[in-house]
Amino acid sequence: TRAEITYFGAGPAALPTDVLETAAQVLLDYNGTGLGIAEHSHRSELATNIINEAKADLTSYLDIPAADYEVVFMQAGGTGEFAASVYNLVGAWVARQHAAVVKELGAGADEAAVVAALRTRVERDLKLDYIITGGWSLKAYQEAVRLLGPEYVNVAADARTINDGKFGKIPDQSTWKLSKDAALVYYCDNETVDGVEFPEFPSVLAPKGGEDGTGDGPVVVADMSSNILSRRVPVSNYSLLFFGAQKNLGCTGVTVAVIKKSLLPPTTTQPSPALMRKLGLPIPPIMLQYETIAKNNSLYNTLSIFDVYIAGQVLKKLLRTFPDKVDGQQAVAEKKASIIYAALDAHPEVYRIVPDKSVRSRMNICFRVTKNGNVDDEAEKAFVKEAASQGLTGLKGHRSVGGIRASNYNSIPLEGAEKLARFIKAFAKA
Ligand code: PMP
Repeated sequence: TRAEITYFGAGPAALPTDVLETAAQVLLDYNGTGLGIAEHSHRSELATNIINEAKADLTSYLDIPAADYEVVFMQAGGTGEFAASVYNLVGAWVARQHAAVVKELGAGADEAAVVAALRTRVERDLKLDYIITGGWSLKAYQEAVRLLGPEYVNVAADARTINDGKFGKIPDQSTWKLSKDAALVYYCDNETVDGVEFPEFPSVLAPKGGEDGTGDGPVVVADMSSNILSRRVPVSNYSLLFFGAQKNLGCTGVTVAVIKKSLLPPTTTQPSPALMRKLGLPIPPIMLQYETIAKNNSLYNTLSIFDVYIAGQVLKKLLRTFPDKVDGQQAVAEKKASIIYAALDAHPEVYRIVPDKSVRSRMNICFRVTKNGNVDDEAEKAFVKEAASQGLTGLKGHRSVGGIRASNYNSIPLEGAEKLARFIKAFAKA
């Protein structure tokens, strides 16, 4: 039964049972309206209220500077955001270049001259930088290459080059080859498959800070799909951060993007589709265009309000549980992770933790089970099977890397982490 298992799957993740009980009720009848939440119009006042409350609660929980950032709900998934970030931030880059060219050539310059000058800048300067530290940032990079062509996409760092072709480390920031005025610098804050998490915001990407500390820095984009809501985020260092809901926020089907408003060129200054075609650059499909989604309060097209409702309930529960908001959850997440890692570290003769100690993920704990110093398939199978028989499920590693992965998301209670740690020790002794 649900009460007997602790589910360590990597996503979709378990949701709090009380949230699901409420959700089950409102699926049948929302607040005595006789209609379920998934049946009400997304244009109804109650739908708008659900969206606005979830936005406000997320803003409060993470301390998002509301005057400078838009929060939008989308249906893209993390994968859709790989594309959305490219399309939108290339558009914003062209908008900046366009303004500079017009200033340089004078307002009366003819269009052909403007296009020619822009084309030169695109060919010479347009670069998107990717920091590749695992399977998900690799996929994002590959999507950028697919959409734009390799000539515009720069691998600023690739963790495999310092670790025998495998993920598990983060190259030192001093070695990152960052482009000048890149359209974006992209990284994945927590690599779900490889168990690698950035210990903190990479200082080399921090805003440069003018005299008053408000100077622009690089256009930083981060995928926080698998660690959002588990630690404090210095939101103002980012131009864009995004996350699918299905790990720490809610159920599959809704994706959140937090976007710096200054990067949303109003439709009037956005490069027109015709101009982008002349430059050989793509424009976003309308449902991936941040400006459009933001202007319509996430309702440009039909959004699953049920999914937003669940995310909203999870946020309300977090705010109720932790008076100090994300800092409270962060302390719990760190405690749970350290209990599990300590159990693994106590038995180096049996367990090999995959990533380097300095970049171990608090959310996805990846390790191998060994025998006589070698990874042992049979021992790993036995580990997964015996754990499941004790109610510890979802521990099998990602199919691409194998091994064991304990996903320690917010919904795993402290007792669940303790139970897993006890099992890890008992299995090693046996
Ligand atoms: N980024 C990360 C870090 C992920 O863990 C995942 C999915 N597990 C994705 C992106 C892709 O998300 P989706 O399947 O929603 O497209």
